[in-house]
Amino acid sequence: MPNATEPQWLTERLTQTVALATAEVHAGGIPFAGLVADDTATVLGTGVNQVRAHRDPTAHAEIVALREAAREHGPHALVGATLLASGEPCPLCYVTALWSGVGRIVFAADRHAAAAAGFDYASSYDLFAVPVEQWRLSPLHLPVEGAQEPFRAWLAR
Ligand SMILES: [Zn+2]
Repeated sequence: MPNATEPQWLTERLTQTVALATAEVHAGGIPFAGLVADDTATVLGTGVNQVRAHRDPTAHAEIVALREAAREHGPHALVGATLLASGEPCPLCYVTALWSGVGRIVFAADRHAAAAAGFDYASSYDLFAVPVEQWRLSPLHLPVEGAQEPFRAWLAR
C-alpha cells in the first residue's frame, strides 16, 4: 500500500515501472523493470532484464536502469537517487544499488510474489545469514605468489 508520508511521484514512478515490466512480458521478455529517478521525479534511466539479449548474466532490470542513468547523467547522478523496481531487487541488484550511491530503493511486488511466478531468488538472501565458508559456492582462497602486489602497487602509486 502507498505510504501517505511518501511523495505522490514515488507512487506514479513505481506504477510506471510496473507498467514497463508488464509491457516487457507482452514483448516476449520476463516480468521485471527498473527505473532510476532523482528527487524531482525526473527519470534518469530505465531498464528491463537483458540477460538473454545481451548475453550478460548481470543485466538484471535494475542494473540496466542504473547503467543507463550513469551513462546518460554521470555516476554522481545516482548518489541519493531512488531506484524503483517492479519486483523486489535480488541481492546482486541490491548490492549494486548500494555501491552506486542510490539513496532509496522502492519495489512493488516482493520476492515471494516473484517466486510464485517462477522466479525464485528468495533463497539467495539466505546467503548473508551464514558464514561464507558454508555457502554452496564457497570461494577458494588461494594466496598465490604476488597476491598482494596489486594493492602494493596501488598504495605505492
Ligand atoms: Zn537482480
